[in-house]
Amino acid sequence: MPEQSPIYRVAVPSPLYSHFDYLPPAQSREKLVPGARVRVPFGRRAVIGIVLAAADRAAVAREKLRRIERVLDEQPVLPQKLLALLAWAAEYYHHPIGEVLAAALPQWLRAGRPGEAPGVEVWRAAPGADPGALKRAPAQRRVLEALMAASDGLEAETLAALTPRWRAATGPLERRGFVARTQRPCLPPYREPAEPGPTLNEDQRAAVEAIVAGFDSYGCFLLHGVTGSGKTEVYLAAARAALARGRQVLVLVPEIGLTPQLVARFERRLGLRVAVLHSGLGDAARYCAWRQAAEARTAVVLGTRSAVFTPMPDLGLIVVDEEHDPSYKQQDGFRYSARDLAVLRAARERIPVVLGSATPSLESVRNAREGGYRLLGLPERTGVAALPAVRLLDMRRLAADEGLSHPLRTAIAERLARGEQSLLFLNRRGFAPAWLCRDCGRVAVCHRCDARLTYHHARRRLICHHCGAEERPPEACPACGAREARALGEGTERIEAALAKVFPKARVVRIDRDVTRRQGALEEQLARVHAGEADILVGTQMLSKGHDFPNVTLVGVVNADQGLYSADFRAPERLMQQILQVAGRAGRADKPGEVLVQTWHPGHPLFTALVNHDYESFLSYALSERRDTGFPPYSFLALLRAESPKNGTALEFLRAARASAGAPAGVEIMEPAPAPMEKRAGRWRAQLLVQSTSRKPLHAFLDRWVPALTALRQARQVRWSLDVDPGDMY
Ligand code: ADP
Ligand code: ZN
Repeated sequence: MPEQSPIYRVAVPSPLYSHFDYLPPAQSREKLVPGARVRVPFGRRAVIGIVLAAADRAAVAREKLRRIERVLDEQPVLPQKLLALLAWAAEYYHHPIGEVLAAALPQWLRAGRPGEAPGVEVWRAAPGADPGALKRAPAQRRVLEALMAASDGLEAETLAALTPRWRAATGPLERRGFVARTQRPCLPPYREPAEPGPTLNEDQRAAVEAIVAGFDSYGCFLLHGVTGSGKTEVYLAAARAALARGRQVLVLVPEIGLTPQLVARFERRLGLRVAVLHSGLGDAARYCAWRQAAEARTAVVLGTRSAVFTPMPDLGLIVVDEEHDPSYKQQDGFRYSARDLAVLRAARERIPVVLGSATPSLESVRNAREGGYRLLGLPERTGVAALPAVRLLDMRRLAADEGLSHPLRTAIAERLARGEQSLLFLNRRGFAPAWLCRDCGRVAVCHRCDARLTYHHARRRLICHHCGAEERPPEACPACGAREARALGEGTERIEAALAKVFPKARVVRIDRDVTRRQGALEEQLARVHAGEADILVGTQMLSKGHDFPNVTLVGVVNADQGLYSADFRAPERLMQQILQVAGRAGRADKPGEVLVQTWHPGHPLFTALVNHDYESFLSYALSERRDTGFPPYSFLALLRAESPKNGTALEFLRAARASAGAPAGVEIMEPAPAPMEKRAGRWRAQLLVQSTSRKPLHAFLDRWVPALTALRQARQVRWSLDVDPGDMY
């Protein structure tokens, strides 16, 4: 009997919970390697899939199998180790393997482009180019001057950050022969020697020594130190030790923590070019950096969430900065936690992982208290001021005009008089969170969501922050016809307007998603603050990470109560973390800061801990509350969500799901319930919570349950998803 050709298991990007079997391509003799891309027929289309393994036997009869059309890679694009991690993640998060692999691959590879790294297009100033000849073309002049200062040239993204009119500017410059377009390798060489850092203090040294002593074996270190305590210096020293051993280093940062300043600091201090990976990059630039890491041609990768999947053959250390940050959890599709997968990856690769934070998550704290993680503390602030004094403003007793109480105004006025800066934090953009008819009390709501519309004054629009719907504020109330509408409550836009009225001479800079939508706008605003061209900053949590404002000596938390009594059990933890993060941005040695917190609940234990800078007592309070209510970290959750444009359908599916679950041992299955926001973007949403005190029975149950769900008749009438370890309950 002739030897049968092998069968290949291929993961294709599809929401189906399985891989698919294929025969090898027609003329091929060679064995295909797992991790290589192949083009395969799938339904009536052809798609790019990844070979998972070879097998002797298929799930269906051989005659029914189709052939792989084409093999795209001789070498695997996903190395074996990473493929195994991803397969594990697909099982753990109960997500289709094809979609998991697609989430890990750069778009460049998913689109079927060749595996060789592309160059990056850059513009360079030509010798002899003369900005003086461009007096009447300021945009061209700006671009040219920037190019003359950059010996390796600048790419499209950098130019776009410089001026939105860069395209219109480079054309004429090229025609005049002032600039030329070329390709450069994706990471330009770094030519400066590494800069020495500060001498580490004793706590930092102890932390670095503990991490370095653990090289070549798995260990998870929780580095807990307030903002400015020198965590980044610990990362840098540990990274240098790993590099000295010829190993690569992966550093994960939250979405808004990845600033050009941080990248520059790593490059300067390590004396090498860092590969940066985040979702804002173009496909080619991103793939370029990814590929460099995969070929071990770059030693350090600095990236956001999905960078946890970067292939790094010599990986020796992983750092997760601000490990508590919610942006590490993917909120749709493949809902993984990059922090948790980083820990798992470190365990599988037998290397240390450092989780750093000023405000560690309750999960990590429990792990550290119970011995799974090793706690490294940095109790002192270095280089910057002592911790700012925190004072609560009891809003039950204070009048507030447009959200600003008298003591807060006075404190701002003092800063203005002294030439210092103030920062006002409010996690709500827009002018006002409600639009109210003064006659009948009707509040404008979104027709597609269970939500109020936010009034945006500059655009004169009512906007839904959940689905993006917009409308013009009605002239007359649709309910009673009165023309007495009023904007109720405060958003950042209103605070900015109020400040302009009270302090007409002050220069106010607002930083939120509305002002910074345009690329480069955030950098411009921050540059104004750092150049001292701002007296007062108003902003959302965009201010809370990655930026330091040494001349800010006052932080005002405009409304600290959002989230205090929210439906989400994590809300108080997030609130505490945000306030502490924002407070940590301010002050330096000669100018200590002050934090004023406006609240209607000054007696809440969270605020007591805040005033005393006592994160430990907050942790004890929050942990005991979680223990009493049986929430994480004292239990493990999975949330089954469903939605449908038809009212009732989502709940019906969940009832059927509940019925199909039976009564598994060690697992508690709640009753289906409408989601906290039941209607969103025209869909009715419901959810079903599954809970267990340990992971094992929970996952044993999910392993059985998820296939059963896909088979339910009602499953075809809804959009459903399973969220393992959900980050929020909406
Ligand atoms: P974190 O990451 O905890 O916010 P950083 O590592 O950024 O803290 O340190 C805050 C500031 O203090 C930085 O300017 C840093 O250069 C400086 N710094 C850190 N460690 C030391 C040290 N041991 N001696 C002097 N300055 C230090
Ligand atoms: Zn809406």
